[in-house]
Amino acid sequence: PWLNYSYSGVDSTSTPSIMNFIDGNFENQTPPATAAAINDSTTIPIYNPATNQLLSCIPESSSSSSSNTNITTAATPAERAILSAKSAYPSWSQTPVQIRQRLLLEYAHLLHQKEGKTTADAMGDVWRGLEVVEAATRVGSEMLGDSLQNLSNGLDTISYRVPLGVCAGIAPFNFPAMIPLWMFPLAIATGNTYVLKPTEKAPSASLLLVKYLHELGLPPGVVNVINGGRNTVDTMLTHPDVKAISFVGSNTAGEYIHDVGSRHGKRVQANLGAKNHATVILADAEKVSTIKALVGAAFGAAGQRCMALSVVIFVGELEESKRWANELVEEAKKLKVGSGFEEGVDIGPLISKDATERAEKIIQQSIDDGATCMLDGRDITVKGYENGNWLGPTVINLSGEHYTNPQVPITNPAYVEEIFAPVLTILTVPTLDDAIQISNNNRYGNGTAIFTSSGGAARKYQYEIEAGQVGINVPIPVPLPFFSFTGNKSSIRGDVNFYGKSGVQFFTQLKTVTSNWQYAKGTDLGGVTMPVL
Ligand code: NAD
Repeated sequence: PWLNYSYSGVDSTSTPSIMNFIDGNFENQTPPATAAAINDSTTIPIYNPATNQLLSCIPESSSSSSSNTNITTAATPAERAILSAKSAYPSWSQTPVQIRQRLLLEYAHLLHQKEGKTTADAMGDVWRGLEVVEAATRVGSEMLGDSLQNLSNGLDTISYRVPLGVCAGIAPFNFPAMIPLWMFPLAIATGNTYVLKPTEKAPSASLLLVKYLHELGLPPGVVNVINGGRNTVDTMLTHPDVKAISFVGSNTAGEYIHDVGSRHGKRVQANLGAKNHATVILADAEKVSTIKALVGAAFGAAGQRCMALSVVIFVGELEESKRWANELVEEAKKLKVGSGFEEGVDIGPLISKDATERAEKIIQQSIDDGATCMLDGRDITVKGYENGNWLGPTVINLSGEHYTNPQVPITNPAYVEEIFAPVLTILTVPTLDDAIQISNNNRYGNGTAIFTSSGGAARKYQYEIEAGQVGINVPIPVPLPFFSFTGNKSSIRGDVNFYGKSGVQFFTQLKTVTSNWQYAKGTDLGGVTMPVL
């Protein structure tokens, strides 16, 4: 229902456009995608990355960063969505927590049934999001406050965790189901209402997820979905009725969103980019399983995962490093590149032509800078999908010599840039200390992993490494929702993490009530009350 085929004046051959979901209804506002519409700044096209065929388009839901706070005259869809969430808030926030939890329990059950219908990668995307929904079904115990009695004669204090109001989320393309599910389920479980802006590159999953929730009886306005890009984001960041912003995506967007949102008095949690380093102690790591783990973590989902391992540091002799690198390349060559809808495919397309060209350019710059390209994924052809955004697994080796002085910055572009593509860079260092220092000098600190049989080395690494998520013989250590998704250095802005206890903290604020029930008509508590503060 979120595809609009019926916009007047457009012939039946045009591509459907994607609608917004505001106040419980899909909105039929955008013209279907036509060449003319795409050249219009109010419409954003969506292409199939495996073919570059135009699939559909989305509206830009705000024309400016203006903030109209009157629901009857609100000009843009973004403003109407925020105001719809504002009107839904009083009743939703007063809905008993067990009823909110029960709805999410049914939602988890429904997602579980639907999730079986997707392909392998998409299944992981839904599954990891579903686990956050499951955690939200137990939110009542996470929301418990504190109390202390008889702080003075007859004086008791209780603190409650109460919701914030309208919260908003801005999501990236690479996990179009999981990341929205990190956002709105916990927000509404804790009593807030929501406005979600999905990625403009793959927005349908969000609409489907929210449609399911409404089919279970969620009241209109509690969750709204608005499509768009920068203008829509600006309205969310500046509108006085939005109390908190959750963002996941690149540093360029996230640093801007954190700064502007914070300046406008909103809570902001922002998970940003990554350049995740794996460290392998060649002398004692188990070779076969480590190489398989590295290849899966570097090239799975075409490297378009914020927890992808994009750098591996071999700790040991150069000759031994060469042997490992050769075996890694042989393993990577076995991967099949192709459309995600075909059987047996390991690596799908990159999200866009621009992303592919950028990755290819960085590979070339890296080679020009002196790196050895051991496996070059450029110029790959996928039969039947010749026009897709393909890049095969690429291995760049900077191990001509040991990096012995971690204080000297590594400037090779393949090392410096977050490429977000199936490109793995290899370095070799003599000691674990060098590996730790290099990782810690890197601007990002999202995830990391060490492969070793030595408990001592693993413990030193977990203690000294500056990364949000640390894997010990685990390649992509994404925490389950009992914990929180963390981050370090430039991989995060804001100080309250997604999901887990931190997620509940983010979506609630403390209210402290101090009462004196020795007070009663006719009881003199003694003296004039002169509060200390
Ligand atoms: P992106 O930053 O381009 O887009 C994310 C969202 O921000 C989209 O909704 C987009 O419309 C909006 N946006 C983009 N540019 C903007 C701007 N200038 N101003 C305001 N809003 C803007 O990110 P992407 O390409 O969709 O996703 C890939 C990035 O996300 C990578 O950097 C990856 O590391 C990161 N990521 C991080 C995590 C994490 O948890 N740390 C998880 C997934 C992805």
